[in-house]
Amino acid sequence: MASAVAPVARITRDAFTARLDDAAASNPGGRTLGLLVIRVHHLRRVNATFGHAVSDRILTDFGDRLRTIARGHDEIHLIADDEYAMILPNLTNRGHAELAANKAIRAAAEPFTVGKTAHTMAITIGIGTSTNAAEAAQLLQRAELALASAESAHTPYAAYADATARATALDWDIETELTDALAHSELEMYYQPQLEIASNRICGAEALMRWHHPERGLITPDFFIGAAERTNQIRPITWSALNMALQRAGEWPTLKLPLKIGVNISAGLLSDREFAALVLNAIGIWGVAPQRLVLEITETALMRELEKSYATLKRLHDAGITISIDDFGTGYSSFAYFRNLPAREIKVDKDFVIKMLKNDKDHHIVESLIGLARKFELRTVAEGVTDEATLDALRDLDCDVAQGYYLAEPMPHDEFMEFLDRNRRGWQPG
Ligand code: C2E
Ligand code: CA
Ligand code: CA
Repeated sequence: MASAVAPVARITRDAFTARLDDAAASNPGGRTLGLLVIRVHHLRRVNATFGHAVSDRILTDFGDRLRTIARGHDEIHLIADDEYAMILPNLTNRGHAELAANKAIRAAAEPFTVGKTAHTMAITIGIGTSTNAAEAAQLLQRAELALASAESAHTPYAAYADATARATALDWDIETELTDALAHSELEMYYQPQLEIASNRICGAEALMRWHHPERGLITPDFFIGAAERTNQIRPITWSALNMALQRAGEWPTLKLPLKIGVNISAGLLSDREFAALVLNAIGIWGVAPQRLVLEITETALMRELEKSYATLKRLHDAGITISIDDFGTGYSSFAYFRNLPAREIKVDKDFVIKMLKNDKDHHIVESLIGLARKFELRTVAEGVTDEATLDALRDLDCDVAQGYYLAEPMPHDEFMEFLDRNRRGWQPG
């Protein structure tokens, strides 16, 4: 497809620095000025194999894609043979520059089709930010340092403040492979339906990540989330999960019950000062009401991080988002801790639910966990519901929501849409 407008123009480094100075001078006081330096990889290889016209075309098309994600005052320039720069004035905080970087990564993820050939391109982004107009000259340097750091750590992007931390990141295979997975869109969200037990209606879904590994096939998250958490990969992965899930949820039909979307969040991210602002920004972008978003955080991690993450949780909770305590029952929450917790929901751990009809003790545990949650006016979700008898038992215990293989396994989005359609008027087993 030919571009309707002129391609993003190539400018000299001096001209670009002058643009950056102007942007810094006119950036509102107290607001962040962001700069993304975006390198497109393998253009030279494309050039050698397919010729100049093709590599030029890919570069131009990518510039056009960047335009579609830019806000009104953002500027896009081509500053080298394989590098775009995006100037992002007037940001609330540094996190918004990362959100823009995530959008650019998604923009590059679709293959570039020239003639009959689809070219998959990888990009790496360096992020520089500043709130001080006098620092314009350093901004480019920061973004370039961050870019170098991201490239050596094999992460899709890095922000200047993180640059040193990332440079020492583990050179572990799964990390490199996860980077490629992000860049090549190998990560996909599956959706597992949830049933409101009393009304027998589907009331939402939990988004669960799957990795379509080019050699190993489909990989479930237990295999890679832990590794991602030990490195910095968990940040881009979580943002990608959240944005993919919200984008989908933004398209879901309006049913009798407004469908909720649950996303798993690693507790470590909650101590990021910008986390709440980024989430609120993301729901705004995808047009999902805060009441529909559920952030699932495991009980053990939540308790470990509670002090550091309290302000974030409170802010999200006050905005109407549901904080859900996942794998509930596996930690050792005391009553005292419950009193002040900004949460609206608990998810009874599936290990108890799966065994509740075979083992009296597990039945007691499920019963008391539901009772405890009820006292604190928390919605109760049971996961790991594998048969009809368990669903009946949960109904007797006044559990609000059921999730598990008996209803459906996690499925790709298309199938979830069909599932919703089939069960529009109430859920039917089988
Ligand atoms: P989780 O949050 O406890 O998710 C529920 C897990 O139970 C899912 O495994 C789901 O497929 C599985 N499950 C659902 N119903 C049943 C059932 O009836 N029986 C049994 N045996 N299992 C059932 P999955 O998808 O493999 O995810 C594993 C864990 O990985 C999740 O546990 C969650 O902690 C983590 N995870 C998944 N997606 C993400 C993500 O996008 N971000 C983060 N940070 N973590 C994720
Ligand atoms: Ca979960
Ligand atoms: Ca769980």
